[in-house]
Order: sequence, then C-alpha cells, then structure tokens
Amino acid sequence: MRRSYRLDSLTWPEVAAVAASSLLAVPVGSTEQHGPHLPLTVDTDIAAALAETLARERDDVLLAPAVSYGSSGEHAGFAGTLSVGQEAVESVLVELGRSADAFAGVVLVSGHGGNAAPLARAVARLRREGRRVLPWSPTGSPTDTHAGRTETSVMLALRPETVRTHLAEPGDVRPLPELLPHLRASGVRAVSANGVLGDPVGATAEEGRRILAAWSSDLLTATARWADATKTAAH
Ligand SMILES: [Zn+2]
Repeated sequence: MRRSYRLDSLTWPEVAAVAASSLLAVPVGSTEQHGPHLPLTVDTDIAAALAETLARERDDVLLAPAVSYGSSGEHAGFAGTLSVGQEAVESVLVELGRSADAFAGVVLVSGHGGNAAPLARAVARLRREGRRVLPWSPTGSPTDTHAGRTETSVMLALRPETVRTHLAEPGDVRPLPELLPHLRASGVRAVSANGVLGDPVGATAEEGRRILAAWSSDLLTATARWADATKTAAH
C-alpha cells in the first residue's frame, strides 16, 4: 500500500524512490467565469478530480498540484476571469514537462477547451524532445460547452455546496461550430450575457456522477493504452 499518491503529501525522498517507475498526472485547468451559478474554478476542479481518480486507480501514477490558470481570453469582461494567455500556457507546460524527467512520463489532464491549442503545441514539442507525454481531455456535446448541463451536473457531484442551482439559466445554445467564429471575433460576452453556452436547467448530481464515471474510464483506458505502447519506445 502506498503512503500517498499526492505530491502535496509526499517528501522528495519518497518521490525519488518511486519516480522512475511512476507517471505524473498534472491537472490543467483555468480560472474563468462559469455563468451566474458556478464558481470560477470549475475546469480546475474537474481536471483535478479526474487526475486524482487516475492516481487512485493506478499504483504507478502520482498526482501533481493543478495548473490553475489557463488561456481564457474568450471569457474576458466577466469579473473573476484570470487568464495568462496561450503563450504562457504553452511555455508552462513545456517547462513543467521538462522538469518532470525524474518520472517515467507525464499525463496532462485538461479541463479547459481554451487550453487545447497551446496544450497540443507543448505536447508536440515535448515529444520531439523524446519525452513521454499523454494529453487527455473530456468530451461532450457541442451544444453544451460551457457552464451548461454537463459541467453543472459534474459540479453538483463534486462540490454541490458551490452550485447556485436557483440561478442556473440557459445561455446561448447554438452548437459550438456555429458559435466559434463569433467567439473568436468577440468572445463569449458578445453571444451570451450570462456567460453560459448551453442549458444548465435540470442538471443533477446523479447525472454528474455518471459523466464522471464515463470520463474516468476513458482516461484510465487512454492511459493504459499509452503506457503500454510507449513503455519500450522512449527513455
Ligand atoms: Zn468549463
């Protein structure tokens, strides 16, 4: 039985003893508005919960503290959104990956779609450098991409005390491909006054637990496949 799988509870000699045979799971989130009914840390909370499940389920995974700020320029104009931009996200992930060389590999568990492009660039770079990195992010409906039914249900399962259910109301419910040009040109504020893309009405904790179970199983499968496939390929 491991003493702990969390870096926030382990010392360096304890990590040194297992690092070479361990993967490091890093939650990658954001601090950005999630409508009038959810807290600003939704993406980080979700990434951290999924990374924690991975570390709990696999003896060879340790959990790192989350990267809590992301690229959230599209949510500018909503108080509390704190964005560091794409360039910063990319270089944080590259440097973080490089400094994790004591580990057998790194799993980046992403909770924020806005980080996708810099995340992909960072992963490509780290792989070119010969490092083992797996990026993973949850999938969802294109009409429910931000603070809608999915994220609200998951937060009701994870941190129900933070959800203002009585303030949950629909935002813009058009599918993401249709919204993207508007979002890129003028941000969420221009299409959705309350900051929601989707409809959170009717979200339940039970649905949230089902979604979390499906995401966890997908993350576990992806990690298992990748870990097996790259075991002998890289250093
Ligand atoms: Zn989110």
